[in-house]
Amino acid sequence: MMSERLAAAYNDQITLELASSHAYLQLAAYFADVSLTGFESWMRAQSDEERLHALKFLDFVLDRGNEVQLGSIEEPASTPTSALDAFEAALAAERAVTASIRDLHVLAHEEGDAASYPLLEWFLSEQVEEEASVGEIVDQLRFADGNPAAILMLDREHSGRVHAAPEE
Ligand code: MG
Repeated sequence: MMSERLAAAYNDQITLELASSHAYLQLAAYFADVSLTGFESWMRAQSDEERLHALKFLDFVLDRGNEVQLGSIEEPASTPTSALDAFEAALAAERAVTASIRDLHVLAHEEGDAASYPLLEWFLSEQVEEEASVGEIVDQLRFADGNPAAILMLDREHSGRVHAAPEE
């Protein structure tokens, strides 16, 4: 079993991943509304992936013999004003998730919980990839600078994302 303090932090992380899934679904709805269907499917896939992250943490807590208690999820931030606005919000959220996982890693160390390291290191690597892929789209949308033809091209380019379960 993990210490109460560490288990509480994992429970908060489960809720944060679910909140992230929730927020990405809201962004998907925005893109559906403005008929940028490539970005819509990108956001839906990301929402699914965040839910799998939550489940991966949840299974770890259960496997360790600790209790799971889900927290409440806040209403997502207001509707974005543009594709760039949506992806900038996503990047800010990913950075917050990274910081939270880094804090979990520090706490696991403080609590002497070496069994947490492989899981948390997997997530830290995953966050490097997530920040890089979202950051790349933010950069591309900045280059597009509101140009509709460029945004449509990027929407098409990012439409091919298919949902893939995270590796063990
Ligand atoms: Mg995540």
